This record gives sequence, structure tokens and C-alpha cells, in this order.
Amino acid sequence: MPTSQATDIFRASLFKTEEFTITFELVPGRGSGGKRLDDILRFAEEAREDGRIKALSITDNPGGHPALAPTSLGLDIKSLGIEPLIHFSLKDKNRNMAESQLFECHRHGLLNLLVLGGDYPRYGFHGQAMPVFDLDSPQLLTLIERLRQTLALEKMAPGGIMPLPAMDFLAGCVVSPFKTTEAEQVFQYAKLLTKVCAGAHFIISQLGFDMSKYQELLSFCRQNTITMPILASVFIPSIKVAEIMYQGKVPGIIFPESLVRLMLQEATSQDRGEEARLLRGAKMVAVLKHMGYAGVHLGGNNLDFSKIAFLLDQAEQFTKTANRQELCQEVDFPTPSTWYLFPESGQQKETHHKPSARFRANQQLHDSTFKPEGLIFPLARAVSLQADQNKQARGLYTFCEHLIKTILFRCRMCGDCTLAESSYHCPQSGCPKRMINGPCGGSLHGFCEVYPQERLCFWVKVYHSNPPSHPRELPNCPPLPPKDWSLQGTSSWLNYFAGRDHNKLNSEPK
Ligand code: SF4
Repeated sequence: MPTSQATDIFRASLFKTEEFTITFELVPGRGSGGKRLDDILRFAEEAREDGRIKALSITDNPGGHPALAPTSLGLDIKSLGIEPLIHFSLKDKNRNMAESQLFECHRHGLLNLLVLGGDYPRYGFHGQAMPVFDLDSPQLLTLIERLRQTLALEKMAPGGIMPLPAMDFLAGCVVSPFKTTEAEQVFQYAKLLTKVCAGAHFIISQLGFDMSKYQELLSFCRQNTITMPILASVFIPSIKVAEIMYQGKVPGIIFPESLVRLMLQEATSQDRGEEARLLRGAKMVAVLKHMGYAGVHLGGNNLDFSKIAFLLDQAEQFTKTANRQELCQEVDFPTPSTWYLFPESGQQKETHHKPSARFRANQQLHDSTFKPEGLIFPLARAVSLQADQNKQARGLYTFCEHLIKTILFRCRMCGDCTLAESSYHCPQSGCPKRMINGPCGGSLHGFCEVYPQERLCFWVKVYHSNPPSHPRELPNCPPLPPKDWSLQGTSSWLNYFAGRDHNKLNSEPK
């Protein structure tokens, strides 16, 4: 457990094994005041008095729309005496802004963070905002881990060499066990391993309604000896939000048709289905507690604190008295033809995993040219280092690389090639968020969040080119470091042989 602060009730609860931690998600919205924010602050005050909610998480421009910064609302909430959990997303800040905001968070005692890539930016002032994604979530977790230790910065950075004082952040990460296809799901879990490797301290699941999938996440973590606390998201939607989610309009959310139908029936009652949706949430909390989750992360819309208090009272009753199996069946809404990592017998067909011919051909060529033991390596290295010495030769060499790789891989000449790490598909041209350490959570039924129903998720293509020999045997990889933007437009081959690209961190070319 990271160094605990005596006053931090969230950390104290999260790392006490016998305690079931409850958090709630707040969505500030656009603007700096008004009724919405007054309601949120009232909710926070009542939650503090009640004492069962240990942290209020605050979203960071959710849906890619501009909203009040989570640090601003976080300070208000902290002053009310309840712990904020700041969502820290990367869609609209580069690495320097991210570091700057980490300093800001630390200065104000906002030490509990939930690290996410974030939804693709949408409308803003005069049109759609520019997507940044300079870092991805594993890379930000690496930066946070570095700030948590008293490590000297790079020599070249202003203030480099001088170590900064250690910053006691607690950083969580997210994962979705609710993907419906094998490729998306396996990559979600592979990326979770990368996030854990990068220093995540706790995990919050995506929201969902398939109880076998909630169980699957716990089983995966146990199998991979992930012992950190895992909170399950429990979302209590209104009928309007349920319909929006069912239509696939919220990135990465699978909302089952059977549940929408049930909610439409419930909406004909006098309270328009209000009590039914709260009771369903309460039952989910009880089921997930029995399952072995360390806590739940509640969320939903049109919920004042009295409704959440009712839900928590009911959850306590269900935990004590109800039949677990019956309860689980009542809140289980699986999506038809979902892929499961641990299928029950007959639930799904075994798939045959074989690398594609394109992948095998590219790998052979890559290994013989770029691996020190490869046949062409000595010649390629000698020619490259020679070309690197001379401006004209360097220009010609770079032109040839550009030509070949644009035709073969739609190369963008980022100068630090990660083709080999993504089955010879270029993430710079193939992924709208340019993710190099695995997919974001926004895909839906195999399609990209940015081009739903139109383009397969880049990482689904990567998976199909070279799937693991078995979906349960995933490599536990540290994240690739962020791209060095000073290399943009230069030859990645020269950078590789001259030891200027990311490989220099792992193995200096001989
Ligand atoms: S050099 Fe960069 S842009 Fe070009 S193929 Fe490799 S990863 Fe893609």
C-alpha cells in the first residue's frame, strides 16, 4: 500500500481487507457554477455526514466534451471533508501539461487519481478539439510512479539532475471485462497487466451488467496474482440514459437489450421505475460483495444522496438475507454471443490461433535486419551508421525508408518505430488515439470508438495478425515509453541503429 495519510479515509478503507469500499462518480458538466454544481456539493455534504462513501470521483471532460476541471471541484469537495478521487485523462493534455497538473494536484493535496486515456475529444469552441494522447495510461502511471519516488529527472530537462521531493500519489487504473469479442477482451486484460506493471495501485472496472464477466475479471486477476483492490462499477441509469447506452452512443459501454426492455416495463409504474432501478443497483452491490470485490464504484444520473442512501441500506439487507444465486440471476443481463475468457462447457467454440502470412513475412524480414543475430544485421547496421554521418546520405536514406514504409504500412515517419510491437500495423496511422501500448476502452463489438460500425479497432487487427498461442497466456510487459517528438520526420531505421529510439532503453545496439 502506498504511504497512507492519517486523514485519507479512502486509502484507509481501500487497503483494509475486511472493509468494503464505496465510491461514487460525480460529473461536473460545462460551466463554473449553477444548480448542477450546487446539487453536487449538497450530495457531497450529505455523503460526508452519512460516512459510507469513502471517495467521490470526479470525471475529466467525459465524452470528450469540455467541463469544469476535476481539480476545481475536487478542492471544493475536499474542503467539505470528503476525499476526492480525481479522474486524470490524457486526451487533451500533452506530457508536460500532465506533469504540471500532477504538481498542481500534489500542491493541493489531491493525491488520489484515476488514470485513464479518455474519450476521443468531441465538439468544442469552433468545432472538434484536437486529440492529444501524447501519453497513454500506462505511460502516465510510469510518470506518477517516478514522481512517487525521489528520482532525478533526465539531465536535459530544465531542473534535471535535481531530484524532486517524493509525491505520495495513489493511482488507480480502469479495465473493461465487458468486451464482446476475443481480440478486444484479451487486449483489455493484456493492457491491465501493463498498467499493473507500470505501477497502478488499484483497479476500477468498466460498468456492465453481465455477472459472469464481473466474475471473469476477478478470476483473471487471481490467475495473474494481481492482489491489489478491485472495485466493480455499478451504474444506475435512468431510462433515457439506458436507451442512449443501448444505442452504442457512449464509448465502450455494452448495454443489454433485455435490461432496456425490463426498464421500459418498469417505467409504466407510478414512480416511473425509480425504486426498481435502485433495488437492482442494491442487489448488484450485494452480489459483487459476495463475489469478492474490494468495493463498488457507484454511478448514475438523477440521483440525489437520499436515493443512494436507500440503495446502500437495501444492499446491506440483501447481503445479510438473500439467496446469493437467486440474487445473481435477477441482476444478470448477459449480451448474446459475448466471448468469455473462462467459458462454461459448450458456451463458445475454441478458436484456432495462427499468425497471418503477412505477419510471418514481416517478422522474418524484421528479425534478420534488426536483431543483432539476424543475417542482414551487420550490413544494415554498417550502411546505416555510415549514412548517418552525412547530411545528403541521411536525406536519401530517409526518403527511401519513407517511400517503402508509406506503401507497406502507411508510415507517418514518427522516427521511433513500434511496428514490431503491433504485429506490423502502424499505430500512428491506424489508431486515431495513436495508442502504442494496447487499445483504449472505447471499442464496441470490435469497432473503433471514433468510427463505430465503420472501421475495426486497430488493436483488433493487430490481434488477428498475431494472436497469442492461448488467450489466457498473456505476456506481462512493461509499457513502451512515450515517443520522443524531436524524432518526428526522421528515419526510424537510422534512429534504431544509432541508439536514439525507444530500444536504447532496453538493449543498446552493439
Ligand atoms: S516509423 Fe512510426 S509512423 Fe512509421 S510505421 Fe513505424 S510506428 Fe508507424
